[in-house]
Amino acid sequence: MNTFSADEVAALATGESFFAAPGERLCPACGEKRLRAYVNTPPNARRPTLVSYVWCAACAKFVGTRAKHPEGLVFSDPLAAMPAAERRELERSLVGFLAYLDRLWEEGALPQTFAA
Ligand SMILES: [Zn+2]
Repeated sequence: MNTFSADEVAALATGESFFAAPGERLCPACGEKRLRAYVNTPPNARRPTLVSYVWCAACAKFVGTRAKHPEGLVFSDPLAAMPAAERRELERSLVGFLAYLDRLWEEGALPQTFAA
């Protein structure tokens, strides 16, 4: 799986916040409007943490980040009901995990909805 370059990651951080506009946006690598994101909060983190997966459904580039969970930010998580063991198994393969997220996106379960 290819990762976004440093310049592309910098471009991802510009423009409207993903929390305000969670739909697909332009990919800085291929220019297609297929850039998607999914965030979650790992249950076992010592501090409130937000893990972000950002990927392009067209060119398959990916970047993952961990950041402090913005205070008060709440969001839907279509994976919340999945048993922990099943989820760990799914996340073992990044390619498989992103394919699963793409399926949720096509089904309308993603993008998530956010409220602050
Ligand atoms: Zn792309």
